[in-house]
Amino acid sequence: MTARILDGQALAAKLRGGIADEVARFTSETGIKPQLTAVLVGDDPASAVYVRNKQRACEQAGIASQLHRLPAETSEAELLALVDQLNRDPQVHGILVQLPLPKQIREQAVLDAVSPMKDVDAFHPENVGRIVQGRPRFLPCTPHGVQQMLIDAQVTIPGSHVVVLGRSEIVGKPLALMLMQKAPHADATVTVCHSRTKNLADITRTADILVAAIGVPQFVKAEMVRPGAVVIDVGINRVGDKLVGDVDFASVSQVAGAISPVPKGVGPMTITMLLQNTLTAARIAAGRNV
Ligand code: NDP
Repeated sequence: MTARILDGQALAAKLRGGIADEVARFTSETGIKPQLTAVLVGDDPASAVYVRNKQRACEQAGIASQLHRLPAETSEAELLALVDQLNRDPQVHGILVQLPLPKQIREQAVLDAVSPMKDVDAFHPENVGRIVQGRPRFLPCTPHGVQQMLIDAQVTIPGSHVVVLGRSEIVGKPLALMLMQKAPHADATVTVCHSRTKNLADITRTADILVAAIGVPQFVKAEMVRPGAVVIDVGINRVGDKLVGDVDFASVSQVAGAISPVPKGVGPMTITMLLQNTLTAARIAAGRNV
């Protein structure tokens, strides 16, 4: 069997067109241009590329973007002061603090300080709590991107066994929470695996939908996948001068029913969901979140 390729890039382009239309309508009705402010501390080259890509996507969707670049030696108090200023600024609808932060700054303290109404990454405990309870304000960008890819590919999520490899706060855990909700495009039976899981391959082979988010290059091999399963590869790993996922695409694509590639899979979808959240944040600020 050769798997159907789930083209995240094409889907992202389609969804971004729809978001741009919604942004244009919102701006013409309210006179407000949604605005995302990114904060980049230090000079990690990968983080700079991520932020630039997010800003470019904003501009293409009619969303204003602003960047605060702070030196690597910035103190936690200085960063918290900037976040406080952005929280109060009515022109700023979404705040994105690019991770990782330098080691003198506690990431949790900073993420907790972002106003839950401007928390377009959905990392604030209030927003995470709302996801747990099935009444989200913002959905976390990467898990939401994965869910949208499954929906677009007409994969049946309700009743399916979803195995999520990885339990990070950013990807694995919120994705598992979202797909187990009693809700449309959810209602899955979810198993979460991590570095302490025993007999991992026995579990992954029972997945109807297997999502890999562990950060280990090409970890998932064909023999770990049930024939016909849907495989979503969240991983982004640099190996030499190539980007590879957490899935061994060459072998797994011979077994799976559908598979997302790396690059051009989940990555572009993550940014797309950030645009959606920024529009939602602007709607909330305008009292128009319907
Ligand atoms: P983390 O490093 O925060 O978490 C990795 C998770 O995988 C942990 O739960 C860890 O277990 C688990 N894990 C690690 N090794 C194994 C193993 N051998 N077997 C089973 N479980 C394992 O990673 P992230 O969630 O932040 O990112 C995961 C990947 O997704 C990375 O490649 C990252 O670059 C990529 N990514 C891609 C995005 C996109 O837009 N496409 C967005 C965000 C991330 P334990 O908890 O026990 O340590």
